[in-house]
Amino acid sequence: MQRLEGKVALITGASRGIGRAIAVAFGQAGASVAVTARSTQALETLATEVGQGRGEALAMTADLNVAADIQRIADTALNRFGRIDILVNNAGIVHPRVDLVDFDPALWRQVIDVNLVAAAMLTKAILPSMIANQSGKIINLSSIGGRRGDKGRSAYRVTKAGLISLTESVAAEVKPHGIDAVCICPGGVDTEGYREAFGSRGRTENPKLMRPQEIASLAVFLASDESSAVTGTAIDAFGSANPLFT
Ligand code: NDP
Repeated sequence: MQRLEGKVALITGASRGIGRAIAVAFGQAGASVAVTARSTQALETLATEVGQGRGEALAMTADLNVAADIQRIADTALNRFGRIDILVNNAGIVHPRVDLVDFDPALWRQVIDVNLVAAAMLTKAILPSMIANQSGKIINLSSIGGRRGDKGRSAYRVTKAGLISLTESVAAEVKPHGIDAVCICPGGVDTEGYREAFGSRGRTENPKLMRPQEIASLAVFLASDESSAVTGTAIDAFGSANPLFT
């Protein structure tokens, strides 16, 4: 029996990076996965890869900046699989370092919408099904940046702090229904998004960066029945960025 055998997961931001690694790891652990992002081709390739495992895969192109897309992916996944056992709100965008005084208001709102509002609204759309089943796991991707503010990073860090708070509130609301909600707060992970945001060449340049698979392994545990003691909390996965080592 694999850890996620028979489970159904919905993962946002799965076209690359941490979300893709989580989708692959969940598939290897026996889950069926519904994956979403804006990049159709990357999702189709991922779905083909995951679909060769024990579970099924469903690719859904969607823009989390569009409210109707959020409801559509929830409905499509629920229609296809009949239920969602695990929701991973992973999709996120980073913005260039800019002080609030100079920040483009439209970009500030877009970061909030994609990183925070979409996670809340997708959770809201999936929760009735989890409540009906009296079971479920919600995993939100916050960040080491959710632990404190930083110059030039206001919108991103507000969303990541907000996800920690959202997780606590939702966990308190749904624990009576057998549903757990947790946050993962990664330190630096070598992904396309990280490389773009920081002009980095990844682990070739900074071997202290984590691999996306290291976060995926934690997500597999949190998605599994073994993690029943863990809810309403944010788990730091800082790797070598842990202040203990710096
Ligand atoms: P990437 O930039 O590599 O991937 C982001 C994913 O989000 C992509 O699949 C992208 O797909 C999707 N996405 C972005 N905007 C939208 C949108 N409007 N609608 C739908 N999907 C969208 O990010 P990472 O893998 O590095 O990060 C994943 C999560 O982990 C993020 O929330 C990030 O903040 C967090 N994190 C990452 C860290 C790191 O060092 N990498 C550290 C701490 C936290 P597409 O472009 O196809 O839409």
